[in-house]
Amino acid sequence: MGKIPVAGPWITQKEIDYVADAAANAWYSNANIFHERFEKAFAEYLGVKYAVTFPSCTSAIHLSLVALGVGPDDEVIVPDITWIATSAPITYVGATPVFADIDPKTWCLSGEDFEECITSRTRAVIPVDLYGNVPDWDAIRNVAQKHNISIVEDAAEAIGSEYKGKKAGSFGNTGVFSFHGSKTLTTGEGGMLVTDNQEIHNRVLFLRDHGRKPNDKMFYNAEVAYKYKMSSMQAALGLAQLERIEELIARKRQIFAWYEEELADVGDLTLNREAADTKNTYWMVCAILDPKFGISKERLIELMSEKNIDCRPFFYPLSSLPAYANLDDAQKAHQRNQVSYQVSPYGMNLPSGMDITEEKVKYVCDALKSILMK
Ligand SMILES: *Cc1c(COP(=O)(O)O)cnc(C)c1O
Repeated sequence: MGKIPVAGPWITQKEIDYVADAAANAWYSNANIFHERFEKAFAEYLGVKYAVTFPSCTSAIHLSLVALGVGPDDEVIVPDITWIATSAPITYVGATPVFADIDPKTWCLSGEDFEECITSRTRAVIPVDLYGNVPDWDAIRNVAQKHNISIVEDAAEAIGSEYKGKKAGSFGNTGVFSFHGSKTLTTGEGGMLVTDNQEIHNRVLFLRDHGRKPNDKMFYNAEVAYKYKMSSMQAALGLAQLERIEELIARKRQIFAWYEEELADVGDLTLNREAADTKNTYWMVCAILDPKFGISKERLIELMSEKNIDCRPFFYPLSSLPAYANLDDAQKAHQRNQVSYQVSPYGMNLPSGMDITEEKVKYVCDALKSILMK
C-alpha cells in the first residue's frame, strides 16, 4: 500500500470530457464559453449576483483589496490561524496586517476578537471559513457595520458550507474561493471572486484585464493594472466539478463521519465542529489533542509518516512566522492571541483526500490510537 495522501481530488470521465472539449473547441469566438458557464453556474449555486474566475484565490483576495480601495496607511484584520494566502495580499497593496485571535469552538475569527483589534486605521477584515467551519457571521457583520469596515470572506476551504441556510462566500463585500488541487472543488490551480455589488464587479473585471475599459479602443489602457485570468481548460474542469458539487460534498461529509465514529472512544481529542444552524463541508478533518498527551503535532506527524500516513500540521499562527518577524503587531499578537497559541501546537489534519476509503480511515485511526496509547 502506498502512502495515504492528506488531500486529493475526485476526477471522473465528465471532467476529462469537458477539458477535452475546451482544448478542442474553446478558441476564437468561443474562447470564453467555459468561463461564462462556470461563472454563471457558480453565482447561481452560491446565491450571489456575480462570480469572476481567477488564476488563484490569492489573486482574488488581492483584487478584492484593490477594488475596495485598501492601500498604504490602512490596516486589515485577519485571523491569526490561517494559510498565509489570506494575509499576503495585504502587503501587496501596501497595507498592514493585524492578527486577531480565533474562537476556540469554531477556530474562526470571533466578533469579539475582531472588535478588539480595530483602530482608526482599520479598513477591512478577512474572516476565514477555516477547514470548512463557519464563524458567527451575525456577530462579525454587526461589528464590521458598526465600524464601517469592508469584509472580504476567505471561503477557500468552505465551498458549500452554510451559516443559517446561507452559503459560505456570500457574507462579505466580496467572497473568494480556491480551486487548488487540494481543495474540495479543483481546477488544478484557480480561484473565484463573488460579489453582489455591481460597482465592485465592474472594477474587478477592469483591474484583472490590464485596466482596459469595456468597449474602449483596442490596446488603450486607462490604468496600470493586473492580468489575472484562468484558462478555458481550467474553467471546463471547474464547471464539471461544480455540476458534481453535491456528490463531492457528500463525500467529504462521509469521510468526516467515518473518522468521528472511529475516534469516538478517544477522549481529549477534538474534531471539527458543526454548530447548530450551520453546515460544515469538512474540507480537512482536523484533530486537536489535549496537551496532556505530551506530544507535539510535529512529532505526531513524524510517527504517522512512519506508518505511511501523510498528515499536515494545523496552521501556525501567522504572527509566529519568520515572514512577519519585523511586524510590530506580530510581537503583540503573541501575547494577545492566547487561543491561537494554545491550539496550534496540538492540531493536525488527517488524510481527507477524496479517494480515501472507510478501510483506510480505520487504518489511520488505529495508527493514531496506538501512538496515543503509548
Ligand atoms: C488554499 C487557500 C488559499 C489560497 O488559495 P490559492 O488558490 O492557492 O491562492 C487562501 N486561503 C485559504 C484559507 C486557503 O486554504
